[in-house]
Amino acid sequence: MELIHPLPHLFQAGFIFMIGLAVGSFANVCIYRIPKGESIVFPASHCPSCNQPIPARDNIPVLSFLLLGGRCRFCKTTIGRIYPVIEILTAVLITSGFLRLGPTPEFVIFMVLGPALVIITAIDLQHKIIPNLITLPGILFGLAGGIYLEGVTSSLIGLVLGSGIFLIIGEVYFRIRGDEGMGMGDVKYIAGAGALLGWQKILLVIFIGALLGSIVGVAGMVEKKLNYMSQIPFGPFLAAGTLIAFFWGDQLIHLYLAAASGRY
Ligand SMILES: [Zn+2]
Repeated sequence: MELIHPLPHLFQAGFIFMIGLAVGSFANVCIYRIPKGESIVFPASHCPSCNQPIPARDNIPVLSFLLLGGRCRFCKTTIGRIYPVIEILTAVLITSGFLRLGPTPEFVIFMVLGPALVIITAIDLQHKIIPNLITLPGILFGLAGGIYLEGVTSSLIGLVLGSGIFLIIGEVYFRIRGDEGMGMGDVKYIAGAGALLGWQKILLVIFIGALLGSIVGVAGMVEKKLNYMSQIPFGPFLAAGTLIAFFWGDQLIHLYLAAASGRY
């Protein structure tokens, strides 16, 4: 901390932003490869269209995309705008986390959590799954981080409570509608998030996720883009809820408890 402290604040944030872009670039690899069951380490990045390996100079986050005009150097196939968007989003998220948390263990935890939420959101939107390759290590990470942040008891109760609620909702939904409303990916996700955030905040995550999901669902029905049988991926709403609970969970729970006891 002593090493970092004397540097100007802006310089630190800029440095973290650069790291965030690089992490975002790795997030893109995960988003593209994990649903296909490909390794995220090997081989090095290649153009999905012409299979040419991408040289290092074309692999600089955001900048390469701009310099190449959004096209592959070799075959000129358009590169999706989603790539630089993911990189910038990840960098903004990590920098915000740094500005709020500073150089703390909490920030180290967020360096993993933030990009994971971006990856989960992107994969669930595209494929309607949250892969085991993310959720299962996520449960171990959630336990390790949660024991540090919230203590062993709250972390374990959070894991059991979160996944238990989702299993029950899934079962009720299945009996009423006869199809799977709650994917097992969601259940494993909420187990990890519950372990990380503890039992109080995981209730908040579920509440926020359900609220956001309902708003989007109703808006979609009003716009006639969805009907009541539409399957909306739940992951993005849970990710948003997790982010809110991670940063503002204590304040929101405090407000709620104060309001509930009439002291507000
Ligand atoms: Zn190409």
